[in-house]
Amino acid sequence: MSYVVLARRYRPQTFEDVVGQDAVVTTLRNAIRSNRVAHAYLLAGPRGVGKTSMARILSKALNCKHGPTDTPCNACDICRCISEGNDIDVLEIDGASNRGIDEVRNIRQNVSYAPSRARYKIYIIDEVHMLTREAFNALLKTLEEPPSHVKFIFATTAVNRLPETVQSRCQRFDFRNISAQDIEKRLAYICRTEGVQAEDAAIHTIARYARGGLRDSQSVLDQILSFCKDRISSEDVNFVLGCIDEDKILGMFDSFVKKDAPSALKTVSEILSEGKTSGECIDQMLSCIRELLIFSSCGQETKWVEFNASLVQRFGNSFTRDTLMYMVQIFSDARMRTTDSLLQRILLEMAVIKVCRMESVGSLYDVVERIAALEDRLVHINDKPAKRNEEGTPTQETISRQMVSEPDAGACCTPLAGNRDHGEDVHNGKDVWEKILLSIQNKKKSTWALLKEGRFIGFKNEEITIEFPSKCSFHKEKLDQIEEKKLVEQCAKEVMQGNVRLKLTVSKNDIPEKSKATVSPARNASDQQPVDLHHPDATVQKTLSLFGGHVVKIKKGG
Ligand SMILES: [Zn+2]
Repeated sequence: MSYVVLARRYRPQTFEDVVGQDAVVTTLRNAIRSNRVAHAYLLAGPRGVGKTSMARILSKALNCKHGPTDTPCNACDICRCISEGNDIDVLEIDGASNRGIDEVRNIRQNVSYAPSRARYKIYIIDEVHMLTREAFNALLKTLEEPPSHVKFIFATTAVNRLPETVQSRCQRFDFRNISAQDIEKRLAYICRTEGVQAEDAAIHTIARYARGGLRDSQSVLDQILSFCKDRISSEDVNFVLGCIDEDKILGMFDSFVKKDAPSALKTVSEILSEGKTSGECIDQMLSCIRELLIFSSCGQETKWVEFNASLVQRFGNSFTRDTLMYMVQIFSDARMRTTDSLLQRILLEMAVIKVCRMESVGSLYDVVERIAALEDRLVHINDKPAKRNEEGTPTQETISRQMVSEPDAGACCTPLAGNRDHGEDVHNGKDVWEKILLSIQNKKKSTWALLKEGRFIGFKNEEITIEFPSKCSFHKEKLDQIEEKKLVEQCAKEVMQGNVRLKLTVSKNDIPEKSKATVSPARNASDQQPVDLHHPDATVQKTLSLFGGHVVKIKKGG
């Protein structure tokens, strides 16, 4: 007896057998039980997920000698003929090879005849989207009002190519890709029944390779069985499918983490020497990077992705999202250029070296924040020598600078909170500005990071002026962009409860804010008391210049 392929031998024969299409099964069974079967069904979905099998099961359910029933006997003549696809009343038509108007005319003529032995005359048209437009038009009339003894079951992998007029006359069921777990279960069942010993990892690889198509997975299993008889190892599967050993791929990622280009290149060489192509290698890398990217963006609970457990466990947190996106770019570039076989290997190796040499990539805003932090630290370092210089008598320059800068800040501005005193105004204005900054920090950290480098100058005519030191002109430019400006103004509006415009300037005579603070510590302190800059006593003078403040009383120790 000739060999019958697994996909046919293990074709589901009852509704219970159907894998991974629970919603369709439940609805159809209910329709049969309650005698509400439509005259036309449209089964849509990817290939190899059970559409034709479902059409046959439905036909049996309707025509079984003991029916209509949702549990056809599979034993009577009619059931057996339908299972084999050669029943006289259930006509299976391939839409791809019978797509013309003549074939449809034929159907139209035949529908008027009663079924020869069963309850219904059932037309199963596979790949129905292949019919020509004329054929569809010819079919429409029959589809609208078929004789009560006729049922249509259409199956298609491209439902969008069906005219609306046809779709609207059918009850539509969407078939889903079958999950890798469901495929694994089914394959394990088949192996048990066939008396084949298969490694779990081997079954797992086949299930993932089939990408949701149960029939594909069974075809692959067939192919592997003919190669290795009754024991299936992971290696066999990788060999037959041209898959690269998972350990090697994981090893590659390990090299990426360690930035170990020699070891990554060695792995590439091993993979290629096994007869795998660079393209296959890149494809597998890309599919792993995709998993890591989805894992880091959506979390482990993401239902629509079958994560490779060992991959996400080991490398789920090893790369930033931007790094992964950059890796996709590197490998897909290499993939697109691997048409010339001579170039293939070198392109793959180049991509691997690039990834190994790559620093972790952060977003642009992260970079801006890091630069801001670095600048902060630099200013601190610069402060220290300045302090030492000013330990002695303050120079004329530092005093005049203080005198000029203070009124400068207040003079051009009206009070923010109704206070008259200029010193107080700026101070209150600063408080309000701090609040605005805080609100921005909560809304958009990158904007805040840019803005905090600026100095509050004042508030006048609904306009806040912020000045940047000339080294931060980049910050100003960035913030001058409409979106950023809008955000700041919105936050300011919320804090101050009134319209506010933002004016950004760059300082012409650069005096870093922090070094100014050392000149006049009282400006930062909460008290607004004046600073004593001169004192005849040398010790007092030194104390003053170190700590600031003013002299209330001098009590000499004994
Ligand atoms: Zn039967």
